[in-house]
Amino acid sequence: MNKKFLITILIVWIIFALISSADAEQYDQERQLMVEKQIKQRGIVDPQLLDAMLKVPRHLFVPENLTLMAYNDTPLPIGYGQTISQPYIVALMTESLNVKKGFKVLEIGTGSGYQAAVLAEMGCQVFTIEVIKILADTAQERLKHLGYPEINVQWGDGYFGWKEEAPFDSIIVTCAIDHVPPPLIEQLKEGGKMVIPVGPPYSLQTLWLFTKEQDQLTSENLGEVIFVPLLREVREE
Ligand code: SAH
Repeated sequence: MNKKFLITILIVWIIFALISSADAEQYDQERQLMVEKQIKQRGIVDPQLLDAMLKVPRHLFVPENLTLMAYNDTPLPIGYGQTISQPYIVALMTESLNVKKGFKVLEIGTGSGYQAAVLAEMGCQVFTIEVIKILADTAQERLKHLGYPEINVQWGDGYFGWKEEAPFDSIIVTCAIDHVPPPLIEQLKEGGKMVIPVGPPYSLQTLWLFTKEQDQLTSENLGEVIFVPLLREVREE
């Protein structure tokens, strides 16, 4: 009886192990295709970035019922009215910052934690702020579980940046606002870059890349985008 029970458990475990390794392989292939077709073929060249996007398991950053769509060429809902950005937009924003290993990077809008994981995978020291508590907590748990315990997640309004950790080499804002928050400009290092979608909520916005030089900002227009708005009120959920 006991022996039979143990054998049943063993068989069930082997079946589960086989299924999950087949799943992992399938997702690896989808991820390779994503990087090839959606990222490389659209002109992204930074080898560290391509490598990071090949490594970070995007399907573990989306809700379970959407894992099969994780490598599609679209943003996806992550609950609470928020989204994980389209893979190409993640790549475009990250490449524009020209980050190097050891860079101190501030992200506004943790969401699922995917963008933060890509930056950490590139060797950056990541500080990320999320305004919705349940998303901040879930992302922190997920990042710890997936091997990124060094990413610092804070619940709060990212409009004010993270003063105690400033200045930053780079700032990435993944929600849209109609002006550039002055505290973020202050917290950017001389020579540092900030990428941010500027424009009205739920409408076409412009993705701007700013570089801080002699306390002035030079700007480059990276194209039109649609991001969820930067909320000015902290929420539990
Ligand atoms: N970078 C995320 C996607 C971000 S979606 C990822 O990789 O998954 C934009 C996120 O910004 C949402 O989670 C939203 O809750 C958050 N957000 C909106 N306003 C904010 C604010 N004032 N401060 C910090 N985060 C904010």
